[in-house]
Amino acid sequence: MDTEKANNLVIYNTLSRRKEAFEPLHPPLVGMYVCGPTVYSDIHLGNCRTFISFDLIYRYLLHLGYKVRYVRNITDAGHLEGDRDEGEDKFSKKAKLEQLEPMEIVQKYTLGFHEVLALFNTLPPSIEPTATGHILEQIEMIKMILKAGYAYEVNGSVYFDVEKYSREHDYGTLTNRKLEDLMEGTRELDGQDEKRGRLDFALWIKAKAETLMQWPSPWGQGFPGWHIECSAMSTKYLGTTFDIHGGGMDLQATHHTNEIAQSQACNHTEPAKYWVHTNMLTVNGTRMSKSAGNGFLPKELFTGDHPLLERGYSPMTVRFFMAQSHYRSTLDFSNEALQAAEKGYKKLMESLSALEKITPSAFSSVNIDELEQRCYAAMNDDFNSPTLIAHLFEGVRIINSALDKKETLTAADLATLKKIMQTFIFEVLGLVDETKQMAGSDVIEGLMRLIIDIRQSARDNKDWTTSDKIRDALKEAGVTLKDTKEGVEWRL
Ligand code: AMP
Ligand code: ZN
Repeated sequence: MDTEKANNLVIYNTLSRRKEAFEPLHPPLVGMYVCGPTVYSDIHLGNCRTFISFDLIYRYLLHLGYKVRYVRNITDAGHLEGDRDEGEDKFSKKAKLEQLEPMEIVQKYTLGFHEVLALFNTLPPSIEPTATGHILEQIEMIKMILKAGYAYEVNGSVYFDVEKYSREHDYGTLTNRKLEDLMEGTRELDGQDEKRGRLDFALWIKAKAETLMQWPSPWGQGFPGWHIECSAMSTKYLGTTFDIHGGGMDLQATHHTNEIAQSQACNHTEPAKYWVHTNMLTVNGTRMSKSAGNGFLPKELFTGDHPLLERGYSPMTVRFFMAQSHYRSTLDFSNEALQAAEKGYKKLMESLSALEKITPSAFSSVNIDELEQRCYAAMNDDFNSPTLIAHLFEGVRIINSALDKKETLTAADLATLKKIMQTFIFEVLGLVDETKQMAGSDVIEGLMRLIIDIRQSARDNKDWTTSDKIRDALKEAGVTLKDTKEGVEWRL
């Protein structure tokens, strides 16, 4: 492990509302839990932003040499339509709509989620537990919370007693809000409500006869509330206290606040040392979400088949677009921003090929070690990817100037520059060279060689109509040909 670099990492902790030196509980091990998707429908680009942000964090921790146990759950039960433990279960509703088994819905959208994240080149987590696979653990935890006196049972359902908890703990610790303020933002209980207090939330919900997903429990047939799954699964795989707990900012006020309360009530400790929250992807300033109807799907983004899109954008353009903003800032979607990102991404990739063509000199006119230090300083400052990218573009400038003989680099500095560019672009930012990806496919390479040969024969025969037609058709498809000393090269 690179102790010196790792020692300089600071992370913004939502719990303390400041940047703190990152000191894992059991170095070099790091336990990280990130709230995963609710798999009852396709994930939209906003969801992707959160998971790509955590992928960057995961990648950088791995790069520093930490052994990270990254747990990201799949919510496949207990998510109701209403925000107050009411309404129909989302999985059952979708299952009825699509005439499928609830677990077929879960399987379909879990596979879709994996497929999309793989296109964005995100690394899979170490463990991906599901809520339905951990019903026993959730029941055990609810039993312990009941035993500790922080929950009560009413007619087959179990609720967490927030007011009782608040007498001994700071319930609003994560959002720095007082109980009275939180109460104000909540609807009053109506006569029908089983809850004792307005902020109380369900740990276990009694099933109706028609509820498709239900399990036996000490309180009768039912299903778990949403928040308990993350407490049960994080405790099981990472212990009662672990290093990082993350999720989108929208989870902070309720889901994560309730997770802290559950863990405190059951395990008598804060579940996580650092709470990390990623900011939202917005469209014209409005948060992208399923309910707002402005959430386009990644595949629509790739094909351009959506009214908001002028054309399609490749997965790496989108990944680069996201890395250009800090994970704690909002990121507004626009065609202009994506087109600018596309140019930036291409420039970065082209600089890597240009690097190979530089001839080393006897001395260097630039300080490459300093550039490396600045890249680490950026990432060590709460994973500041936009600043990192600015430094990588300084690398691009050096490369282009060295090619034009305006700057010089020794062989050693050239090797360091290459290492910096490749490490940060591929390993840390998680980008891939899409041209090479395509070019790397044997079939595509074979077809391209065939097309180039046919065009060459046409040119040899002075058949300009055919050769121009081939060149124009390739251009239309986004392929450019370039004559070099070694023959004709092609690029996307
Ligand atoms: P869900 O499937 O709705 O539970 O959301 C999965 C994750 O996506 C959660 O961590 C949310 O905070 C996150 N998320 C939802 N909408 C957005 C958005 N517009 N931008 C960034 N993250 C989001
Ligand atoms: Zn969660």
